[in-house]
Amino acid sequence: MSIKHEVDEAVSPRSLRLKRARTDEEPTGTGVDANWTQFMELKKHEMIWYEDRNIVLVAQQTVAFKVYRGILSRRSEVFRGMFAKEHKTGDMVMDGCPVFEVSDRPTDLAHFLSALFDRTYFDSSQCSFDMLASMLRLGTKYRIEDLRGGALTRLNHCFPPRLDAWTLNKKDRDQLIKDPSVIVGIANLASELDLKHILYLSLYECCQIPARTLFEGYKHLDGSVEKLDWDLMGSCVEGLHSLFEESFDITTGCIEAVRPSSEQCARPNCPGLARSMSGKVGPSTPRPDPLVDRFTSSRLSVFGAYCDNCVKFLGEKYNAGRLSLFARILDGTVFPISE
Ligand SMILES: [Zn+2]
Repeated sequence: MSIKHEVDEAVSPRSLRLKRARTDEEPTGTGVDANWTQFMELKKHEMIWYEDRNIVLVAQQTVAFKVYRGILSRRSEVFRGMFAKEHKTGDMVMDGCPVFEVSDRPTDLAHFLSALFDRTYFDSSQCSFDMLASMLRLGTKYRIEDLRGGALTRLNHCFPPRLDAWTLNKKDRDQLIKDPSVIVGIANLASELDLKHILYLSLYECCQIPARTLFEGYKHLDGSVEKLDWDLMGSCVEGLHSLFEESFDITTGCIEAVRPSSEQCARPNCPGLARSMSGKVGPSTPRPDPLVDRFTSSRLSVFGAYCDNCVKFLGEKYNAGRLSLFARILDGTVFPISE
């Protein structure tokens, strides 16, 4: 059975024998210690519970992982520091191993530990967003640069801070956001880790999905649901309003543009085309996605009626509008977020 495909469902309840580290004064075999009454829901992770390992991590007081202390210490100074603290009498023990509690989500920790123990587990270019988020979140927290860096490279590729790359990498972005609601998870992750340009661009993508999907949020494989908080939701609504205005301005700006001088444009009918074209195309319908390049698409192919110089002139004007909008998205103007 492959860990890779089972890890999200691999939590099953088992009877656990939990007790405190014994002291010389205490009788043996005292069973479940009072400290553990808070962990009555505790389950062993079905895959990441290696009998010959020497430490137990408990995630959010619900799932326990029995792993090899040496590997974690070697890879992460944060784990090293955590384990270096003296294990005192009265500290929790499970299966004879010291127990350390962590606040990480069990599914995050399962992905993260699997990647630490198996180098082939995490392929940043192909993996699901859930796995990517786990590596970025815990790679940052436990300072494991290769996992964090791999995840961040993929996110930066899909949400690049340049308009040409944004257009070019759309297919890869769509592959990461297979289900539209995934974008809610991406925005939350970027907000949590203060990845500003990824946050703003993911809010732009939030404006492209159905409102109901945005409000209902992103459902993880483990059944938990995450939503945008009200600050990000408000930012989305404000941003959507701006995007409609920008869309109108960019497209009508091309139609209303003053043609180049007569030295550049030798075709006498070019200047008159704008009026006939706006009559043909009709008033520009505002859309929420003005970053999409429509200049060369079928609807605006009518620009081809102009001479080469005029087409170039209009194309540059159109792209200047998109570039200006992109810059204002990246500097936080379009999606204002309270600090
Ligand atoms: Zn012309």
